[in-house]
Amino acid sequence: MRTNSLQSKDIAHQIHPATNLRRHERVGPIVIDRGSGIYVYDDEGREYIEGLAGLWSVGVGFGEKRLVEAATRQMAKLPYYHIFAHKTHEPSTLLAEKLVSMAPANLKHVFFTSSGGEANDSAIKFVWYYNNALGRTDKKKFIARQGAYHGITIAAGSLTGLQANQRGFDLPLPFAKHLTCPHYYRFGLPGESEEAFTERLAKELEDLILSEGPDTVAAFIGEPLMGAGGVIVPPVNYWQRIQEVCRKYDVLVIADEVINGFGRLGTLFGCDTFGIRPDILVCSKQITSSYQPLAAVLISDEMYQAMADQSDRLGTFGHGYTASAHPVATAVALENLAIIEERNLVANAAEVGAHLHAGLSRFADHPLVGEVRGRGLIAAVELVADKATKARFDPVGKVGLKFFDRAHQHGLIIRNVGDSIAICPPMIITAAQVDELLKRFKATLDDITDWVNAGMPE
Ligand code: PMP
Repeated sequence: MRTNSLQSKDIAHQIHPATNLRRHERVGPIVIDRGSGIYVYDDEGREYIEGLAGLWSVGVGFGEKRLVEAATRQMAKLPYYHIFAHKTHEPSTLLAEKLVSMAPANLKHVFFTSSGGEANDSAIKFVWYYNNALGRTDKKKFIARQGAYHGITIAAGSLTGLQANQRGFDLPLPFAKHLTCPHYYRFGLPGESEEAFTERLAKELEDLILSEGPDTVAAFIGEPLMGAGGVIVPPVNYWQRIQEVCRKYDVLVIADEVINGFGRLGTLFGCDTFGIRPDILVCSKQITSSYQPLAAVLISDEMYQAMADQSDRLGTFGHGYTASAHPVATAVALENLAIIEERNLVANAAEVGAHLHAGLSRFADHPLVGEVRGRGLIAAVELVADKATKARFDPVGKVGLKFFDRAHQHGLIIRNVGDSIAICPPMIITAAQVDELLKRFKATLDDITDWVNAGMPE
């Protein structure tokens, strides 16, 4: 139990996201005090490699002074203004222009929110508004996948396909339908090729659209490469086939790039890696390296024109948050994107990412390692009870949680998704720092192997 006065106050008063609340009362929090580059330090001065870049998000690393200065400048000049009712300001306008120049060519219009969940909620509402504009008033259902993460608001949380985010919360709402997680290692059938797996998933999508009725299905939403659900790389040709089916039935394609966007996979967007031409693209996290809360929804000109045409009938477009297009957040985003460009961090994610994957692939023969996967600077190592049968540990997550805890002792912060160990370091990481990360990973894996071999004592 960690018990200085800050920790006691935390336990007494803070509700922690994505945390077992009773366990937290017992073990207490680690107080993270400061950060520099790929490292963070706790209040006792212990150093950790931030192997998850905060929440998959601190692309330029900690302690980046240019972002502090950009925020300070904007705070001094105009700390807040909104863009409701015919007002605007410079940073959000320049950022909208910048995002359109970076994104797939058909995406021309940008709406800002403060979080990925709000952005996905906005995307849902835009799709409903658009279909109402076209008189397709029944076309409202969304298709997502098991294992997806799209946020935890009531609507976006319905698209999420993870039990922990829905159990006990009366989610998902019925407008959201879920397909098989596109994870070949886990859900491919014995003897089924990766190509045949893709075909089965494309057919599953088509069957669902047909059984629900194409006139009722509005959109398909997916992360190009799933992040929080366990770093799931889609099977070969997956996105080509999914897009074909969606186009056939006039179902919009939404790319949730909240983790993938701005270089994480070694390309600017996950859409570039997988050849996706979305009607809507949602991004956040690395847009500001999480120095400020910000997310964006980019939509096609076709959608925008239909929505704008509603002005005559419905009047005001009644959607927007107090902090939409916040000047400080958008000023920080502009500076952050400039840093990503100037320091070639997208290319770094590809090159150093290849080094990370080469290093992790050395664990593929380890008896506890079922699969090593990922792309660019995002990866996962799935731990299994039986390598030959891919059998999971019982209960799922016990080994992962032990790994998560023990990694701290080796100066490493990772995330366990069940028994998959996710790694997603800041995009500024060097090859030498990756080697250090791998050393700490191996030390943790060695400890966990001993513990498993000892019968997983409490
Ligand atoms: N979409 C994806 C793909 C995400 O990874 C996340 C956050 N992890 C979200 C949406 C939700 O973002 P937020 O937590 O800012 O609401």
